Amino acid sequence: MDRINDFEPAWLDQYVMPNYGRFPLWPERGEGPYLWDSEGKKYLDFASGVASCPLGHAHPEVAGAIAAQAHKLMQASNWYCSKGQAQLARVLVEEIVKVPGKCFFSNSGAEANEGMIKLARKYGVTRPQADGSPRYEIITFTGSFHGRTFGAMSATAQEKIHGGFGPIVPGFVYAPFNDVEALKKAVTEKTVAIFFEPVQGESGVNPATPEFLRTVQSLCKQHDLLMLLDEVQCGLGRTGDSCGWRSIVPGDEIQPDSISWAKSIGSGYPLGSFWIRNRALADGDERRLCDLLGPGTHGTTFGGSPLACAAGLATLNVILRDQLAESSAVLGRKIAGEVASWKQPLITDIRAFGMLIGFELDEAALLAKAAIKASGKIASIYVAKAMLDAGLLVVPAGPKVVRWLPPMNLTEAQAAEALTIFKTILGELSALD
Ligand SMILES: *Cc1c(COP(=O)(O)O)cnc(C)c1O
Repeated sequence: MDRINDFEPAWLDQYVMPNYGRFPLWPERGEGPYLWDSEGKKYLDFASGVASCPLGHAHPEVAGAIAAQAHKLMQASNWYCSKGQAQLARVLVEEIVKVPGKCFFSNSGAEANEGMIKLARKYGVTRPQADGSPRYEIITFTGSFHGRTFGAMSATAQEKIHGGFGPIVPGFVYAPFNDVEALKKAVTEKTVAIFFEPVQGESGVNPATPEFLRTVQSLCKQHDLLMLLDEVQCGLGRTGDSCGWRSIVPGDEIQPDSISWAKSIGSGYPLGSFWIRNRALADGDERRLCDLLGPGTHGTTFGGSPLACAAGLATLNVILRDQLAESSAVLGRKIAGEVASWKQPLITDIRAFGMLIGFELDEAALLAKAAIKASGKIASIYVAKAMLDAGLLVVPAGPKVVRWLPPMNLTEAQAAEALTIFKTILGELSALD
């Protein structure tokens, strides 16, 4: 195979499925918040692999840990004991959630969510309805995104995600996000869990309200439901707190039963996890919730491999040691304040949580412009492409929000560099007829 390292750009269309709408950029290498394409053009990368590079690119400690582990042992399988899983789970329990519990390791966010869905189903069998039949309904919310596997896709309350793939997995009940009255009405005797993102990422950086979180909490207590949090995007410091929900209601008032993570955890190396609270199944019941998924109930070949755990430990070590959640909370507020001070009419709202910042655009004003209308693009994609051309990578989130997901170790000078591009391009877009 002497052609194995040959390359022609046309092969991407010829040999790779067309399921992604890709921007015309071929990333070649990165360093910190910077990315270079195959032609040597430099970008400030505030897409960060969609929030999966919390330390930027090629972080020496992460790269070093991965290289060292690759030379030692990449994979051994879950038939054997795992030092890396034990270490990483301890960090997640003691340093991130700070509530007793246990973790499972997967390869992705969708898979972490699948585990939580299985936990809920098992709980509904173990703690059934009054007549002994299982509880299985899981309430999820409009605007959510939980992943592309069948369970996670079915949990995602968006027709555009599961349309065309029916029948989807039964048992998901969709309710409008942040509508506490609708949520109360959605609970039935079959309900077993409430599942949501504390800050919805893909649909536009939309936070749960404190009232919503408190209502979920009281419904869970009242009806013996599990509170399942999808922190795949908003967890592990991304929102300026090691736990996304605590950036909305600080402290221990909100008591999730299970939390999923992925994106940030391995600095881009595929890794996901979910945590389950260590509590009794019910008053006077000896069994623990965190032990409900016993031997043989769940598993994965690759999840939590020695290599993945090395990436995860190195990443969380830097986030915790350098207090990046704390520093990015401060910088996130500064960035939001600076953009607000421009009074740029194309920006109609700013939702800033650490290094997860949503800029809501005036969609109608953008689509009224001849050049944008003629492009046929949705507003957020048009704006993201204009930023890309100017050297700043941002991520569309729904039709009218662009997201900044910079590395959590971003400096003020790097933020200023991005702000200059952002301001210039927004100015140019506003000046269009
Ligand atoms: C990205 C994402 C997922 C899916 O994660 P994958 O690793 O792509 O499977 C699930 N939930 C949320 C909130 C996400 O942002």
